Amino acid sequence: MTTPLQVRSIPHIVTELPGPKARAHVEFDHAWTSPSLPRAYPIVPLRGVGCAIEDIDGNVFLDFAAGIAVNSTGHSHPEVVAAIQAQAANLIHMSASDFYLPIYAEAAAELARISPMSGPARTFIGNSGAEAVEAGLKLARYHTRRQNVIAFLGAFHGRTMGAVSLTASKAKYHAHFGPLLPGVYHVPFGNQGLDELEQRVFKRLMPADEFAAVIVEPIQGEGGYVVPEDDFLPRLRELCDRHGILLIADEVQSGAGRTGKMWAVQHWDVEPDILLTAKGIASGMPIGAMIARAEVMTWGPGAHGSTYGGNPVALAALMATVRLLEGGPIANAGLRGRQIMDGLAPLQDRFPGIVRDVRGKGLMIGVQFDSGETAEAVQMQAFGRGLLVLEAGDDCVRMSPPLVVTEAEADTAVRIFSEAVAHVTAHRGADVRDVERAAEQGLATQGVEAGG
Ligand code: PLP
Repeated sequence: MTTPLQVRSIPHIVTELPGPKARAHVEFDHAWTSPSLPRAYPIVPLRGVGCAIEDIDGNVFLDFAAGIAVNSTGHSHPEVVAAIQAQAANLIHMSASDFYLPIYAEAAAELARISPMSGPARTFIGNSGAEAVEAGLKLARYHTRRQNVIAFLGAFHGRTMGAVSLTASKAKYHAHFGPLLPGVYHVPFGNQGLDELEQRVFKRLMPADEFAAVIVEPIQGEGGYVVPEDDFLPRLRELCDRHGILLIADEVQSGAGRTGKMWAVQHWDVEPDILLTAKGIASGMPIGAMIARAEVMTWGPGAHGSTYGGNPVALAALMATVRLLEGGPIANAGLRGRQIMDGLAPLQDRFPGIVRDVRGKGLMIGVQFDSGETAEAVQMQAFGRGLLVLEAGDDCVRMSPPLVVTEAEADTAVRIFSEAVAHVTAHRGADVRDVERAAEQGLATQGVEAGG
């Protein structure tokens, strides 16, 4: 067994990046794994604690990507580890679809307690965000007996066939996979999309009473951490009520406390009919849950299920995570988020025309640049300095650290990120060439790719 990671200062880079072992591993990986995986940069992580990640060469990084906004309680939080170990020692699997696994119902009750619905709620549990999306989609069709669904341009809902049909952040996610699910209508994200629904879609394309659901990320994630107008979600709720359409909030990325409230919809006092959660809700164990108002969950035995969904080990992590999040990290997300946004905001004045926007809520923070190439170069420069961030959308870099991030870590991230932007601005042509060279060597992504 390895000794726990002892971190004195983060980041702590001891080799060139990538280091020799990382280079060798990247080569090994490229021989065996699916080339579809959109690797962002050549980090080969071995272990982590809090916001620190140590790679195979002994470099310690400050992790502001958190495994794509997942490690909410930090890496390997001792209470999450203990919960996983205790559960694994008792029972690892006993399909909750076929048998009455106690922790499954307990987790469903816990999710109902923390759900943003005021009435009773029931939960179906799967293994991933995409599975939660599929479950929501199926339930909406089943309950309403309507087929069509509305989603938003820029949205990311996952990569299974139904979920990818709803996704509209990058066209390449659809390339060569058609025909996609029929009956999906995309409109712009925000108030413009609502106007388009009323004026164009419902009037000219499909009557409103033929739609089962609208699926929305309250704050778009992979699309670039886009925060909508304040009246957008309340207006959307009202539109759904008017037409008997179910409102599905995809909080796979924005939920589990990341924005400073348990659910992002709570910033606008909106209650969805169905809420989807995954990523941060179990600190990295695979869970995707579909929570629905009880009166909407009208399907019967056999309509939906899953062999692994609601695996007891993953659910033990979920229960520990919810307990931990409510004990401080959600409030911390709000505080640290404001600190980081205040720290990054001056970049717009320092680098006019290059840094176009600094936006977000809580620890869902996006910095928009003048181009995807600049965003890519900043991401790579941050990596080279020991800070892990991830691109999003066409031209953004996102910060989504663990919710336990400290004030000092937030300051460090702002400092390194600002240095990365300054470096890229000073060496613009050269940096893009660096990225291209790295891509040629298979060490970086091919363009703006980090999906999820
Ligand atoms: N929905 C949102 C908002 C997401 O951000 C993601 C993944 O990034 C998904 C769904 C799909 O989740 P998963 O990758 O766990 O299938």
